[in-house]
Amino acid sequence: MNVIFLGPPGAGKGTQCKVIADRYQLRHLSSGDILRRERADNTDLGQKAQSFMDSGRLVPDDLIVAMMMKEINAADTNSGVVLDGFPRTIGQAEELDKALNAAGKDIDVVLCLDVDDDKLEHRITGRRSCSGCGAAYHITFNPPQVDGICDKCQKELTQRSDDTAEVVKNRIKTYHDQTAPLVSFYKEKGNLKNVDGNVAIEQVTQAMCDILDRVST
Ligand SMILES: [Zn+2]
Repeated sequence: MNVIFLGPPGAGKGTQCKVIADRYQLRHLSSGDILRRERADNTDLGQKAQSFMDSGRLVPDDLIVAMMMKEINAADTNSGVVLDGFPRTIGQAEELDKALNAAGKDIDVVLCLDVDDDKLEHRITGRRSCSGCGAAYHITFNPPQVDGICDKCQKELTQRSDDTAEVVKNRIKTYHDQTAPLVSFYKEKGNLKNVDGNVAIEQVTQAMCDILDRVST
């Protein structure tokens, strides 16, 4: 079973992907991680990607797809993959379809996690991390005992510069702009499933598993 996971920043996408990957024995392929690894390993694809990034250009769709297909094909012995952060554009989605078809594979389901924008903003802007030990907090969901101070090492808590309200609004807008065409693309193909991400994490996981159980049988 091959799954695409679409979800906005702050929706707990990484966590949910891991849970799904474990439960259905899928390989969790995050395009960001793979790109970083290809560059770190200085592979042929990694070098090509690096040259685009060095000159401030976007890594082209066919290069990203080639990297992802390498991983998808390497996952043959497993029961499939869950794609996280990929495809990001219609161009990538179309290239992916072609490459999958050529390999005799297909996307079985596209999970789209829907979370209200104000909820996302609150989740992201409330994040804090310890400047000393890196421990993660949230001012509402997981607050420290003393405001702004780490429970474990008493160092000061800080906020990531891209977690501020203004930047977060932009990140969410970018997500919607990028994702809307993909949602239409997969809806038309008939394999898009929306999941309500406004509820508790366990409920979200359950809803996704109900969908995947139906798809995999
Ligand atoms: Zn700490």
